[in-house]
Amino acid sequence: MIQDIAPHVFHNEYLPRPMGATDAVVCCEDSQILLNVTAGDTSVTFPHLSDFSADEQVHIANSNPQYLFSIDETGYFSVSAQQLPFSALQQAQPQDASQLQPAFRCASGQLLRFCPVQIFRQQPDNATAHAIMVAYHLTSWMARSRFCGRCGAKTAPHPKERAMQCSACGNLIYPQISPAVAVAVVDLPNDRILLAKGLGEFRKFALIAGFVEIGETVEECVRREVFEEVGLKLGALHYYKSQPWGLTSIEMLGFFAELSGSDALRLQETEIAEARWFSREQLSEAPVQSLSFTLIEAFRTGEYLRYLK
Ligand SMILES: [Zn+2]
Repeated sequence: MIQDIAPHVFHNEYLPRPMGATDAVVCCEDSQILLNVTAGDTSVTFPHLSDFSADEQVHIANSNPQYLFSIDETGYFSVSAQQLPFSALQQAQPQDASQLQPAFRCASGQLLRFCPVQIFRQQPDNATAHAIMVAYHLTSWMARSRFCGRCGAKTAPHPKERAMQCSACGNLIYPQISPAVAVAVVDLPNDRILLAKGLGEFRKFALIAGFVEIGETVEECVRREVFEEVGLKLGALHYYKSQPWGLTSIEMLGFFAELSGSDALRLQETEIAEARWFSREQLSEAPVQSLSFTLIEAFRTGEYLRYLK
């Protein structure tokens, strides 16, 4: 899964420090992120402070870059687009004019472009994909937390905690992480798994999933979501693994759930377009970036049986 970045190590301890030459520049604007791109290739990297000229490095370092996290020894620092000295950067060559977003040439020769955050899905390197997701999660939370929800005054990053603090009343706002579940309902006697297609933009067969609601346990959420969406009752639940999903500020908890009773489906028409039981042979190998597809793949390969004890 995307967060599996070994041999690299993700450090989320909040240890702010001055930005150094080898640290990564994170510039996120809405759902776009500034990255090094190469013509004809979908893989990207973060720009580093050393990619900029000496004058530009001083300008960026003096513009209050915000420490986010580290991977190995590299710190990731949020810098707003207004703080970046784009005026000092050379415009990219004309052959890039057909691209959707403006491109800039760094002093080092790296070509920078604002890319959709979804570009994380196309990265062969999990460390880059994970960094894009976590950087987006943190910068979008900071952008939504610029004012205090209690008194309306401006906030600023807390010097010692990963939190935004109100300048007037001291209210602390921590990163928002919403628990959600992905449920692989399995019909053990018939060796089948339930997959469903939602009515949203994502129109592929996937698992039943949903947010944990206020006042309920994660286990109650699993049973409620499955009953609401497809009308099935569940027996034993088996926790599998979890996954941070910064794109939607989620911590996804994955379960295998045994069918109990009837296998007849009753679809929630406002949420589910189609749902079906699939045998192992009917499934093809799935990409395992997300927890949802990793659960499906664990069913297809039979690995899931280890989790049902
Ligand atoms: Zn306040």
